[in-house]
Amino acid sequence: MALSNDKLAAYPHYKTFSSQDAAVFANDHSELFGEHSQLHTVEFGDGNLNLVFRVKNQFGTSLIVKQALPYARCVGESWPLTLDRARIEAEVLLQHRQQVPDHTVEVLYHDPSKAAMVLEDLGDHQILRQALIAGKQLPLLADHLALYLSHTAFFSSDFVLDGPSKKAQVARFLNPELCLITEDLFFTDPFCNHERNTFDAALQPFVRGLWFDEDVKAEVASLKASFLSKPQALLHGDVHAGSIFVRHDSTKLIDAEFGFYGPIGFDVGSFIGNLLLNYFSVEGQLNDSHAAHAQQAYLRQQLTRFEVCFNQHWRDLMRSHTKDAALQSERYQQQFLQQVWHDALGFAGCELIRRIVGLAHVADMDTIANKALKNQCELRALECGRRLILQHRQLASLSPVLQLLT
Ligand code: ADP
Ligand code: MG
Repeated sequence: MALSNDKLAAYPHYKTFSSQDAAVFANDHSELFGEHSQLHTVEFGDGNLNLVFRVKNQFGTSLIVKQALPYARCVGESWPLTLDRARIEAEVLLQHRQQVPDHTVEVLYHDPSKAAMVLEDLGDHQILRQALIAGKQLPLLADHLALYLSHTAFFSSDFVLDGPSKKAQVARFLNPELCLITEDLFFTDPFCNHERNTFDAALQPFVRGLWFDEDVKAEVASLKASFLSKPQALLHGDVHAGSIFVRHDSTKLIDAEFGFYGPIGFDVGSFIGNLLLNYFSVEGQLNDSHAAHAQQAYLRQQLTRFEVCFNQHWRDLMRSHTKDAALQSERYQQQFLQQVWHDALGFAGCELIRRIVGLAHVADMDTIANKALKNQCELRALECGRRLILQHRQLASLSPVLQLLT
């Protein structure tokens, strides 16, 4: 592709990969294939923004090559997007893998000048969203996410890093262009009559109600302000069910290009919001009411378990690994964790609403064939989202939210 904008001038070595280029890139930067490999490559990414190739040899060994395009793949060249997102994605994943190796995809090599990286192939896993839509129950999901989210956040926070190191990290992960996407799509568009919004006409009365609800708008404003100005920890930035690869016994996070220093509750709330979205879609997805009840019970159990495990990890980490003497105050530590939950519940509420009203929907809802049933599921999710937004500062934990679901 020709260099089409000024920013690309900073990337003289950048060229959009063909399948052949991806194979050479993987082969040059990995020992895995060996001398006599015949490589076969397919581009198969189903994501919104980037190219994803699988490079495989005749013996079945394979690697993934992911490359950023200078624009958003789902829209085309009319939506230019920084190539620096590939550097950020690789660096976030490398840091998170140091902290939580079992639950972070392995980056084997990355080259920021080519906006490309070589990743381990998780082809024996499945994307969480597809697994949940199919009614699968992953018994360790909550435990694994609690470990990943608590450890990645804690070890990049002020509890561990001294002031100058933390500020250097914040600067390294500013990520303004991708943050702007979240700022718009999460906190602005769904709460006004924006042209990027898409939702079924049947939802109009509820959605219009939201747009003119000053209480909702004030709470969303405070959540957006937190997102904009609370650099607590190095977030993944996009913990939706499409960024989590699962197997019965394994959970791995991918796709961290939205990573930045932000409020810890944002990743936590995104995860919770995605489990709740699936929860509300279950009755539209599973025809058998027995299976639907079992799936919802599973999701409630996982949410409860997630909260318990996250709190346990977080308290243990604060107690035993806080380096800053001033932050060792037990009372402060309790308040801090409480604040994380207030934020998380508010962000979860925004996720519920933006995935139904905004630009980027979720397959959990969109693949419900019966339109009336789909709208019923969506309205329940919207109502839950509205409540979470309005009450997040009073809600001390997830439990009262889960009680409302039974
Ligand atoms: P985008 O940033 O464009 O959203 P993703 O990182 O979400 O791209 O990847 C898009 C798709 O590519 C995933 O849904 C998955 O099917 C596939 N994919 C990405 N990374 C891997 C991997 N390491 N192993 C196997 N498949 C992967
Ligand atoms: Mg993705």
